[in-house]
Amino acid sequence: MSPLVRECVRKMSAYTPGEQPSDLRAVKLNTNENPYPPSPAVMRALREIGPDMLRRYPDPDCKRLCARIAVLHRCRPEQVFIGNGSDEILALCSRAFVEDGGRIAYFDPSYSLYPVLARIRNVKELALKLGPDFVPPDTPRAAGAGLFFMTNPNAPTGILYPRARVAAFCRRFKGVVVIDEAYVDFARESCMGLALKLKNAIVLRTLSKSYSLAGLRVGYAVGPRPLIAALNKIKDSYNVDRISQVLAEAAIGDQAWMRANARRIAATRGRLARSLAGLGFLVCPSQANFLFVKPSAMKAEAIYRQLRARDILVRYFARPLTRDFLRISIGTDEQAGRLVKAIASIQGKKT
Ligand code: PMP
Repeated sequence: MSPLVRECVRKMSAYTPGEQPSDLRAVKLNTNENPYPPSPAVMRALREIGPDMLRRYPDPDCKRLCARIAVLHRCRPEQVFIGNGSDEILALCSRAFVEDGGRIAYFDPSYSLYPVLARIRNVKELALKLGPDFVPPDTPRAAGAGLFFMTNPNAPTGILYPRARVAAFCRRFKGVVVIDEAYVDFARESCMGLALKLKNAIVLRTLSKSYSLAGLRVGYAVGPRPLIAALNKIKDSYNVDRISQVLAEAAIGDQAWMRANARRIAATRGRLARSLAGLGFLVCPSQANFLFVKPSAMKAEAIYRQLRARDILVRYFARPLTRDFLRISIGTDEQAGRLVKAIASIQGKKT
């Protein structure tokens, strides 16, 4: 790469997103998208978008959307920040809360974007390795870090870190804790209360998973006013486009739709977990819209490749900590059925 590019950018590897095939026939269980459509209210709002809305810049402060989210979480609009996907908010946090020469901490394995953000900032990474059961320790040690990214439920494992432990950790930690709740609508409890109570905790949510809007790019943060004000200070003026603002408002307004789909997905998750266990897989206890599973009869990578050859996409992370596992997004019952049948046939068993 050209010497004109910063050294840390030359040296780093980019984040690798899951494959997005153009062939829509594939059973796509690789990027934790929702198999069900977004709320009909979103589709109605989309049809109402006219030329005048597109001609003008959007509201730079996303006031209506912030107000709506504030009502949902019973907080002030000044405690809400909207991002172009929660990925944008994670990047903004890495810029707002970590000094040059500081550190960014996170559990390992966890969301593989976090080390990339640390490398872009050229700050140290403190990757706290989880044990073989992937359960976070009672007292994680992250001394000296200005920022802790904590995915909860964790990805790619799906394991939920109990709220009381997260609270105890936040109280001890000196920097900012970003609790990334991308998957929390599929879980039994959330840490939103901590973001409303503590001075150093921010909760991140996304509309990409439970609201079926990954194509839109909207995420939000809730937290103490001074931290939210810092994000507002450094963001691009028009970071969230007008279409996204309007459609996100419609989606947030239909909680019943989102909840019903999240319940269906959780039910499929339970059935799929039992089927895979029946095929000899070790299944991590998931509170998310995916399962992290370890086959016993064959290597995970071989199953991943053979599924791919049958147009079934799942995610495989080749790093030492995760290379024995597959991450499988929860689709419909029909997709789960096809997956189980394919794995059974790959393993040479009958369903
Ligand atoms: N956090 C976690 C843990 C994720 O898995 C994802 C999705 N890849 C995101 C955040 C980003 O979500 P989005 O940018 O679509 O809001």
